[in-house]
Amino acid sequence: MGKVYLVGAGPGDPELLTLKAVKVLHEADVVLYDRLISEEALHYTKPACKLVYVGKSDGKHTIPQEEINRLLVYYASTHEVVVRLKGGDPFVFGRGGEEALYLKRHGIPYEIVPGVSSLYSVPAYAGIPLTFRGIASSFAVITGHEATGKEKRVNWLAFREIDTLVILMGVRNRQRIAKELIASGRNPDEPVAFVERGTTPQQRVTVSTLKEVATEPPPVNPPAIMVVGEVVRLQKELSELLTNLKAEEVYHAR
Ligand code: SAH
Repeated sequence: MGKVYLVGAGPGDPELLTLKAVKVLHEADVVLYDRLISEEALHYTKPACKLVYVGKSDGKHTIPQEEINRLLVYYASTHEVVVRLKGGDPFVFGRGGEEALYLKRHGIPYEIVPGVSSLYSVPAYAGIPLTFRGIASSFAVITGHEATGKEKRVNWLAFREIDTLVILMGVRNRQRIAKELIASGRNPDEPVAFVERGTTPQQRVTVSTLKEVATEPPPVNPPAIMVVGEVVRLQKELSELLTNLKAEEVYHAR
């Protein structure tokens, strides 16, 4: 019986892989990986390692989760070291918890290898700190993708007092989210940033306001992180000498 490692691959920049991720990738006999994994991460595997793509695209599940769970159990019965490589951190909107529970219930030994989550690293590469003394002392991380059915609904009103909101999977619903946030009592002039494909050479930052996103949403493509809050005002100055990436920046209403 093999062992399954649920591994976070970080947000895209291969240098944000952890040493532990690189180590288990090197030992892996099979890697099951997602869409948002950088190709470079897979270069750390042995030539004989089997690579299995189980990617999903923004809401559309190419392979149902149940099938991925079954594949993990199957490969654990035929291979020694099985790596389930997931974008960012496996326990942040990655369904890593479900996979861990499934493995546990099937008696498969497993290990969690946390990764650098996109939730803070993508804003960081764009020059947006989630907290800042005197400006933001709290942040919340919310899913912007509320599929009908099983997904627990987000109560946007509950975040009224939170300074910075970090919304993942929110591109498609950005207009509705901005409307809900204004309706919850947030300032319509509050700045909003979208960081597309953060930490990769294709990173693109769009700065707007809640009002503008609610009325005429700027063009944004997934994957992107949506940041709502006064900290976004720091982005312009903080990104000036920031050398992580030479990113394209688009500014809208201020
Ligand atoms: N477990 C992941 C999140 C999975 S949900 C993590 O910890 O980062 C997928 C969402 O994450 C995307 O829809 C997007 O909102 C965000 N995301 C992941 N990687 C990203 C990147 N490189 N740039 C921008 N957003 C990213």
